[in-house]
Amino acid sequence: MAGGIRVTVWNEGEHEKLNAEIAKLYPKGLGGQIAQYLERQAGIASVHVSELSDEGQGLTDEILARTDVMTWWGHRAHGDVTDENVERVCARVRDGMGLIVLHSGHYAKVFRRLMGTSCQLKWREIGEKERLWVVDPGHPIADGLPEYFELPHVEMYGEHFAVPQPDQLVFVSWFEGGEVFRSGCCWHRERGKVFYFRPGHETLPIYHDEHVLKVIGNAVRWAAPCGVEAVTRGNVEPLEDIGPAA
Ligand code: ZN
Repeated sequence: MAGGIRVTVWNEGEHEKLNAEIAKLYPKGLGGQIAQYLERQAGIASVHVSELSDEGQGLTDEILARTDVMTWWGHRAHGDVTDENVERVCARVRDGMGLIVLHSGHYAKVFRRLMGTSCQLKWREIGEKERLWVVDPGHPIADGLPEYFELPHVEMYGEHFAVPQPDQLVFVSWFEGGEVFRSGCCWHRERGKVFYFRPGHETLPIYHDEHVLKVIGNAVRWAAPCGVEAVTRGNVEPLEDIGPAA
């Protein structure tokens, strides 16, 4: 888009303040880690990091108005995001803002409201291997990736993932323990695009992985607003002269 994409990295920002091990892994916070990658990527004009403890939970009108794409990471404090802020973020998505929901964000109120389902899944935390297969190799979110990539130690998420059928499915994960998971899913919500990407977890260096970061960068470009700027809804006059109704 003209002028470049303005990104807000929304980060809950609690784990890294409460646990020294997590702070060592992510000295700038999980949000800071993602932001410092995105800042260097083509097509991205600016990156702002918002946290739950910021004024207005980092979701003020001013921030939302200057955000083309928002990434969302949360885990322990989903319930603290106010319903009013959830509705304002969802309204911005319906109006065209892209939303990239990461890992435990599957249970964020914003994501559940946009999906309309429980978004529950199976999980297990024993540090097993994950292999992510690209199942839509022509998709822009898969740009520059190999056919598959692996993360050596992850928290497992397994099916059934209680979301609506994705409009596009980009990744399917296989786990060492035997489960599979739709780990990269795209949906359209009115004028906005939503991408859910599974990898993450606060105690593991997942957001240091080059492939994971590349996917997030590609997803930001995919989710950026484009297309028709103004849509008319409601009762309208015919565009052609078709005479009185029969
Ligand atoms: Zn996790």
